[in-house]
Amino acid sequence: MIWARGRAFNMKALVLHKPGQGSIETIPEPAGDGSDILLKVRMVGLCGSDLSSFRGLNPLVTYPRIPGHEVSATVVQGDGGDSRLSVGTDVAIFPYTSCGKCASCLRRRPNACQFNETLGVQRDGALTEFIVMPPEKLYPARLTTTELCLIEPLTVGFHAVSRGRVTGEDTVVIMGCGGVGLGAVAASSSRGARTICVDVDDDKLELARASGGAHTINSLRESLHDRLRELTGGRGPDVIVEAVGTAATFRAAVEEVSFTGRVVYIGYAKEPVSYETKLFVQKELDVLGSRNAQPEDFHAVIRLLEGRRFPVDQAVSVVVPLYEAADALRSWSENPSRFKKILVSLD
Ligand SMILES: [Zn+2]
Ligand SMILES: [Zn+2]
Repeated sequence: MIWARGRAFNMKALVLHKPGQGSIETIPEPAGDGSDILLKVRMVGLCGSDLSSFRGLNPLVTYPRIPGHEVSATVVQGDGGDSRLSVGTDVAIFPYTSCGKCASCLRRRPNACQFNETLGVQRDGALTEFIVMPPEKLYPARLTTTELCLIEPLTVGFHAVSRGRVTGEDTVVIMGCGGVGLGAVAASSSRGARTICVDVDDDKLELARASGGAHTINSLRESLHDRLRELTGGRGPDVIVEAVGTAATFRAAVEEVSFTGRVVYIGYAKEPVSYETKLFVQKELDVLGSRNAQPEDFHAVIRLLEGRRFPVDQAVSVVVPLYEAADALRSWSENPSRFKKILVSLD
């Protein structure tokens, strides 16, 4: 389809050519089918998975690749008959696909589709001026450009908390308070659970507290085991969400959780992890994986942000223009603890 009243146009995009190498290129306009919506990309958030793509450490990425899956955009053309998506509407994007036929899709859990292609990972993403998307992947919300960008990363933590069936009766531990863990902290505390945040970085712990965490533990300085016993009357927490991805935290989750507790893994461990598996049986644990997010997680995060119950400004480290995006990824790669969230503005 030719947009813009029949005239083809070119646009700028960040293209990763190979690990460690990205540049701004001119690419043709996006092609959509008749029902697709043309969007002007306003802002894109970078997360750990983009950093892995930049470093060549994400096995799902092939090159060249345009990254970007945390997106704030504005409808430019085509409402697909959907009045919620008239021209000028600001939207967040659901960056996953689902095949409709695999076991996950048939169980109505398309977030874990066997053949999922995430924007910017298995297919080209949003670090470009315009993109096209099917209307059902768009979430309009009365939020700022920055807030719209934070929706997707927060949904991943929301989904994990939903997998853990967290209620207001629970004491919940979130291990790792980076972008994903922070969403889990916000989700858990918004369900009324007493939420304990664990990290090795005091800045992240402060942000976790501002996101609703009741207690914080810096596991470099304090004994995780002793503090958790102290805070739970010796029983251990009801739910532990692991959002780090190291062997030590994978193991600590099953060791520290209470009897009949629930453990939710979001982190990807880069190496095999050995376990004392008797704890699975002895404690009769629910050990759960959590991947991506469901539409209801998007709605829950939009409600949280619309209620101004998340410290948006504190959560963002820096906003850079598109032409500085590759440099931003490089300095993040050289110094991973320096940034919480980098946003790329395309306005
Ligand atoms: Zn992300
Ligand atoms: Zn599927």
